[in-house]
Amino acid sequence: METEPSQNDVETRLLDLAKSQPNGVSNDDVKAHLSDVPLPELTAIINKCLKNGLFDLFKLKNTLFYKYKDPSKKTTTKGADTEERVVYKIIEEAGNKGIWIRDIRFASNLNMTQLNKVLKSLETKKIIKAVKSVSASKKKVYMLFDLEPDSTVTGGAWYQDQDFESEFVDVLSQQCHRFLVEKWEEANQKSGGPLAVRNRSYATASDVHKFISELGISKVALTIKDIESILFTVVLDNNAERIVKTDGSYLYKAVKGFLPAPGLVKTTCGICPVVNRCADTGHINPKDCSYFAEWLNQ
Ligand code: SF4
Repeated sequence: METEPSQNDVETRLLDLAKSQPNGVSNDDVKAHLSDVPLPELTAIINKCLKNGLFDLFKLKNTLFYKYKDPSKKTTTKGADTEERVVYKIIEEAGNKGIWIRDIRFASNLNMTQLNKVLKSLETKKIIKAVKSVSASKKKVYMLFDLEPDSTVTGGAWYQDQDFESEFVDVLSQQCHRFLVEKWEEANQKSGGPLAVRNRSYATASDVHKFISELGISKVALTIKDIESILFTVVLDNNAERIVKTDGSYLYKAVKGFLPAPGLVKTTCGICPVVNRCADTGHINPKDCSYFAEWLNQ
């Protein structure tokens, strides 16, 4: 009568051990951890877990390892045939970056007709899903149904159904810049020397992130990394500067943009590399110059 609860207890300890080591627990570790359990009993419980699909068994450098398998995932392929299990396994291993159909075909050795049938079946059962990748308009990658696609697949916060949300990015960029300008103006109003004003003008990406979050202009949850990439565009537009802190993070400050280019520099002759050789006569002359004609006709 006492055997049953004891077996359950051993099984629970074994599963807890396996769960604590998601990359797999070695046979030796299992034996050491459950040294109080007689070996035949322990072996029987390990076999039971393997039979029930709670463990994956694999060998690494001549050592046996047991890897815990989530029962919720196990049930997803219940009733599936061998081909579906093979394809499921390949897709599962691809994680949230997904896997392209051609790679599934190579890995599974199934022909295209078979593979399409299997994929359709798994999609219908809502075990896997196809996600369009931003890297190629016609490219779909497959991943497990309940996974959130990686930002390299979706394009991150700046993409909606594969389309780049340029307006959204523009608005964010303007608001980030506005925050930096306000911070700079605020710093200027307070007393202190130029250095103090300058130091007070700097903001971290977290400060800007907080401001943008409170504005509520984004439907998607933006991360500090997202804000950092927007702030970088503000820097590239010469509307802000950034400096590196000792810990490697950045501080941002609004700056006055460069002076507008004088009119002459904007002309094709203003940046012409052979302007010194251009004359009324000779091969290089404004009359025959296609760049000059193009500029005149703008
Ligand atoms: S006319 Fe043509 S060749 Fe002459 S300076 Fe202008 S761009 Fe250069």
